[in-house]
Amino acid sequence: ESSETLNPAPSKQSSRNFKDTLLPKIMIVGRPNVGKSALFNRLTRRREALVYDTPAGHVTRDVREGIAKLAGLRFKILDTAGLETFTEDESILARTAGITATTLRKCHIALFLVDGRAGFHPQDMDVGKWLRKSAPHVKVVIAVNKAEGIHNDSTGRLMAALGEAHQLGFGDPVPISAESGEGMVDLFDSLRPLLEEAQEEIYKNVPEGVEEIKEEDEEANAKTLPLQLAIAGRPNVGKSTLVNALLREERVLTGPEPGLTRDSVTSEFEYSGRKVRLVDTAGWMQRVQVKEGPAALSAMHARKGVMMAHVVALVVDGEEIGNTRSSMRHAEAVLARWVVQEGRGLVVVVNKMDLLAGKENAKIRGDVMKAVPTEIQTILPQVSGVPVVFVSALEKKGGAAIMRNVFECYEKWCTRLTTAQLNRWLRKVMSRHPKNTSGVKYGPKVKFMTQVKARPPTFVVFVSGSGELEETDLRFLASALREDFGLDGIPLRILQRSTK
Ligand code: GDP
Ligand code: GDP
Repeated sequence: ESSETLNPAPSKQSSRNFKDTLLPKIMIVGRPNVGKSALFNRLTRRREALVYDTPAGHVTRDVREGIAKLAGLRFKILDTAGLETFTEDESILARTAGITATTLRKCHIALFLVDGRAGFHPQDMDVGKWLRKSAPHVKVVIAVNKAEGIHNDSTGRLMAALGEAHQLGFGDPVPISAESGEGMVDLFDSLRPLLEEAQEEIYKNVPEGVEEIKEEDEEANAKTLPLQLAIAGRPNVGKSTLVNALLREERVLTGPEPGLTRDSVTSEFEYSGRKVRLVDTAGWMQRVQVKEGPAALSAMHARKGVMMAHVVALVVDGEEIGNTRSSMRHAEAVLARWVVQEGRGLVVVVNKMDLLAGKENAKIRGDVMKAVPTEIQTILPQVSGVPVVFVSALEKKGGAAIMRNVFECYEKWCTRLTTAQLNRWLRKVMSRHPKNTSGVKYGPKVKFMTQVKARPPTFVVFVSGSGELEETDLRFLASALREDFGLDGIPLRILQRSTK
C-alpha cells in the first residue's frame, strides 16, 4: 500500500490524479448482454468515466474507462460493451477485434464475464480463444454474472453454469451479481493477489518510464505554453489594480476575453520575454463569503482558478493588517492552505504598502513586514520559505518583484531531479539523519528514491521489507530535499512504497 503522509497532504483530487497514472488496469470482456456495463457501473459507482474514442478506419467505438473501488482495492476498469468482438456482423468483428486486442494488451487483468442465467453460449468459447490468442500474458479471472441467489437456487441452473464456466479453462469461476452486488467479496479475493502483483510490477518499471514521458510533456509545455498565474484574494485588497498595473507595464498579448464579466478576466502578457496568462480568480472570495468554510471551497467555480494556475499570487491588504493589527483573515489562511494542498505554487503579495510609507509609519511597516511571513509559516508549517512580496499596486511599485518571485516559484515547481542525482544525495543525507533520536535504521530501510513527477515535484521512496517510514522521517527527507535542491516555498510530495 502506498501511503501519503507528507504534508502538505495532497488533496484527494490531485493525489488521485497522480496515483491514477500508476493504477493497474482491468478490462471487462464478454459477449454482449452478459452484464459488462452493469458491472462497470457497480465498480465505479458511476464515478466514471473518461469516455474516449478509439478510431479505427471509419469505425469509432467507445471504451469507457473508470476508477474502480472494490473493498479498498483501487484499479482502472475498462468497459468494452458495445465494442464486442463477437458480433454477427463480420466486418465489424475484424475491426473491433483489433481495437479491443490492442487495448487489452495494455491491461494487466481481463475479467471474463459469462451469463449464469443464459448458460453456456458458443460465443463464450470464442471469447476464451480470443483472450488466449491476443493477450497470452494478461491474467484472466472468469466470473459468472447474474448469479444472485446461487446458494438457494433450486433449479441448479446457476451451479451448472459454474461448471460450464470452469470448462473454459480459466480456473475457478467466481459467481457474482453485478445487479445485486452478491459475490463482490469473492471477486475481491480473486482479484487481489493479481492486482497486487500488477501494482508491484508497475512501481518497479514505471518510474523511469513516467519520468521520460512526463519530461517530454513538461518541457514542451514549459517552453511553449504560458505560465498560468492566478491573482486571488478578498474583495478590495487591490487585485484589479494590480492586474492593471502588471498589464500596463507589459506587452499585452490578449486583453480580457470579450463577453466575459470583470469576474473572469483572462489576459496574456509577456514579461521578460516569457508568456504569462492570468487565470480567473477575481470574485473568488466573494463567492466563498457566501458560504464560508471548506464546503464553499469545493464549489466548482472557486476551484477552477486555482486548479488552472501554476502559481497563485495571494493578495492581502497590508494597510489593514498594519493598522488594525489584525492577522490575515480566516478565508486567506484557508486559501493559502488550499493552494499548497492542490500542489500549486504560492506567492503572497502584501499590497497597499504606500499607505504605510513615511517615517511615522516605520514601526507599523516593520511589524507588517515581520508579521506576514511569520504568519504564513504558521499557516503552512510544512512549506517553509513561501515568498512574501510587499508592493503598492496603486503606485505600480513591486510588480517586478512579484514577477521575479512568480517565475522563481514556477521554476522550482518544475524541478526535475534524476534518479542518479537523488540516490547519490540519498546516501549522503542518510548519514545526516538523527538516527539516534528517532531510532530509525535507515540503511536497510530506504532503498532508493525516484522522482515520478514534477509540477509539483513528487517523489517515491522505496522502503525495504514491510518497514514504513514515519511521518517524521518523511518530513526529514522533505526538508533535506528543500534545503539541498533549493526547493523551499513550494509544495513537495513524497510517497513511499515497500519493495518486499
Ligand atoms: P453488456 O452488454 O455486457 O454490457 O450487458 P449489460 O450490462 O447491458 O446487461 C445486459 C442485461 O443483463 C441488462 O438487462 C441487465 O439489466 C442484465 N444484468 C446485468 N447484470 C445482471 C445481474 O447481475 N443479474 C441479473 N439478473 N441481470 C443482470
Ligand atoms: P479588488 O476588489 O481586489 O480587485 O480591489 P481593487 O483593485 O478594486 O481595489 C480596491 C480599492 O483599493 C480601490 O479603491 C483601489 O484604488 C485601492 N487600492 C488598490 N491597490 C492599492 C494600493 O496599492 N494602495 C492604495 N492606497 N490603494 C489601493
